[in-house]
Amino acid sequence: MDKDIATPKRTKNILEKYGFSFKKSLGQNFLIDTNILRRIVHYAELTDETGVIEVGPGIGSLTEQLARNCKKVVSFEIDQRLLPILEETLSPYRHVKVINKDILEADLSTIIDEEFKDIQDLMVVANLPYYVTTPIIMKLLEEKLPIRGIVVMLQKEVADRISALPGTKDYGSLSAAVQYYTEAETVMTVPKTVFVPQPNVDSAVIRLKRRKKPLVSVHNEAFFFKVIKVCFAQRRKTVLNNLISQLPNGKEKKEEIRTALLAVNIDAGRRGETLSIEEFARLSEAIYPYFR
Ligand code: SAM
Repeated sequence: MDKDIATPKRTKNILEKYGFSFKKSLGQNFLIDTNILRRIVHYAELTDETGVIEVGPGIGSLTEQLARNCKKVVSFEIDQRLLPILEETLSPYRHVKVINKDILEADLSTIIDEEFKDIQDLMVVANLPYYVTTPIIMKLLEEKLPIRGIVVMLQKEVADRISALPGTKDYGSLSAAVQYYTEAETVMTVPKTVFVPQPNVDSAVIRLKRRKKPLVSVHNEAFFFKVIKVCFAQRRKTVLNNLISQLPNGKEKKEEIRTALLAVNIDAGRRGETLSIEEFARLSEAIYPYFR
């Protein structure tokens, strides 16, 4: 087997050879600890039939570990300065394809159809660029891609919010949105010392297992997500007050909303952070007729 890329020495040599300078604006913090990488791969439960989508290969440290454990990797890298480096570091792995594109701009459905034709089992695995963690995760979920799940490194603070339960300080619209689509769990916290350069924040790895169907069924997903957002608009306000002040013509519909809350057994004096996802679904179904 080839030498690991993610040792401090090999990483340093590669960076020096190419005169590479990190771009903070692209969230470039590279992993230099193969143990952590192996644990990420372990949590992704790959087989030799699995296809993997990676975001941001950097110099290929995680890509290499993925390639050794799955059928094919397609990896999106925005920074074209990394392409010649990846060509060298990943040359032993013919089943890796690097696409020089912003993941947020990529047409993932089409790329999956083209690149993973004969593959049934798909995972997203990445050490995410922290400046776009949430948009990337929401894109992967909202586009309803045929993936089994997502295992990613991200800021610990965002991991805590994603996996938070109702009634806790971290629970918010992000928790509800992600948990609607997936079972979310923080599987590991990671010290700053395993990166070069070291990030300013602590990190964690989350595992999101996609649900066969969303946790609750709603008629209008967009409205459901809007209601959740609105209920958290001002955390100290009650659900009723957030709804009437944030929804179009909410004030005029105060009594209808109050009656709807009563009908679905949600006390109008509760705060958004106490509502479960099931309760948000009941609530949005009950008030939807007034906002159609
Ligand atoms: N996977 C490598 C590792 O673990 O060492 C690098 C991870 S680094 C945290 C994030 C990587 O994502 C960088 O290589 C960066 O250039 C790339 N990146 C940043 N924004 C991106 C975007 N919008 N689309 C694709 N790649 C992006």
